[in-house]
Amino acid sequence: MLTTLFLNFCVLATCSYLLSLTYRSWPTERSGLWYVLRLAALATIGILLMSFPAALAPGVIADLRAVPFVFALLRYGPVAAVGVALPMALYRLELGGPGALVSLISFGAMWLVGTAAWFWLRSRAQRSVPRPPQAPWGESLRQRLTSRVALRRGLATLFTLAPNGVALLLLPGGQGLFSRAYFPVLALGLFGSAILSSIVSGRIRHLQVMQRWQTQALLDPLTGIANRRQFDHDLLSLAPDDAVVLIDIDHFKRVNDTHGHAVGDLVLRDVAQTLYGQLRSHDQAYRIGGEEFAVILRGVTEEHGRGVAERLRRTVAGRPMAGEHITVSLGVSLVGESAAQDVLEQVDVALYRAKQRGRNRTCVWKAGQLTLLETARTLAGSG
Ligand code: GH3
Ligand code: MG
Ligand code: MG
Repeated sequence: MLTTLFLNFCVLATCSYLLSLTYRSWPTERSGLWYVLRLAALATIGILLMSFPAALAPGVIADLRAVPFVFALLRYGPVAAVGVALPMALYRLELGGPGALVSLISFGAMWLVGTAAWFWLRSRAQRSVPRPPQAPWGESLRQRLTSRVALRRGLATLFTLAPNGVALLLLPGGQGLFSRAYFPVLALGLFGSAILSSIVSGRIRHLQVMQRWQTQALLDPLTGIANRRQFDHDLLSLAPDDAVVLIDIDHFKRVNDTHGHAVGDLVLRDVAQTLYGQLRSHDQAYRIGGEEFAVILRGVTEEHGRGVAERLRRTVAGRPMAGEHITVSLGVSLVGESAAQDVLEQVDVALYRAKQRGRNRTCVWKAGQLTLLETARTLAGSG
């Protein structure tokens, strides 16, 4: 019997890996196609395990079908667990024999205990103090194994698996079957649950770390807005009615020279947050160089584009940034039929013209012509 149960265990370990592939992104899906596929995979694993069972007596089999069920119950709750248990229970009824009734009772008992354990895990998770931020590569194996969450999950799994097979005692001669099978199935079930959880958790951690690095790779660490890499990427998806705005802080070197680099950094942050705060949710602000920013406006007319650029300029000029009076110069170009590279050159020329003409102003590229917008205020001593 132990050899067959071990074979069952190997099937479970292999299926655990396949199941982990249904986790596609972080945060993990709790609805939609991949979620349904995951629950279906758990039910299929249970059915597969029942197809390689240890025969205890005619019509009575032992296997690790409880493991995917308990996994679904403790992770996704009582309703999802019913969805997973149903196909398994039907298959067990189809196999027939006196063990079918034992199986149904076991599922029912595990569901009751597991539902209580699930509520307990949830209430503990809600009460727990938020953990300090972890290193980007995550916790060490030792930290994970000894964490309170892991211990609680382990306990919940043990209690939920415990009623499995107790109903064997109801069968004639069931005491002998119980004493032969109960503890090996419980021990392998616990071990199998640990393997299943650790393979899935490993995959989830991998997705978490990937997601974290991806986000960090596309954000500017100083200002927290999107960076040059994201800008270059977004340029590839420009549409004719999008506009690109280049923004350069005027005489920024003076800020650094007069007040120091730290104040310069604060100014950069303030400007970035001001730009970010002025945009619609589907527009995007970027820091693309030292004191240079860009904005991509989606679905705008030329008039709207220049209006937004002017609003950005006025907002920066009208608000002290880290206690400093700061102004910016802007170049604007609507994409139209131009290629991304051409648009960049156009806004660059427009920005250069705004600088040349005295700074603190917006210059718009329009069909090969540069239009300088009126400025509300010019810098003292320039323009
Ligand atoms: P202009 O009006 O012509 O744009 O003059 P400017 O002084 O703003 O331009 P310039 O290119 O001469 O100087 C840019 C300055 O930006 C120089 C550099 O020290 C500073 N800078 C670049 N990156 C950072 C940064 O991350 N933090 C700080 N504090 N300063 C930076
Ligand atoms: Mg500058
Ligand atoms: Mg510059």
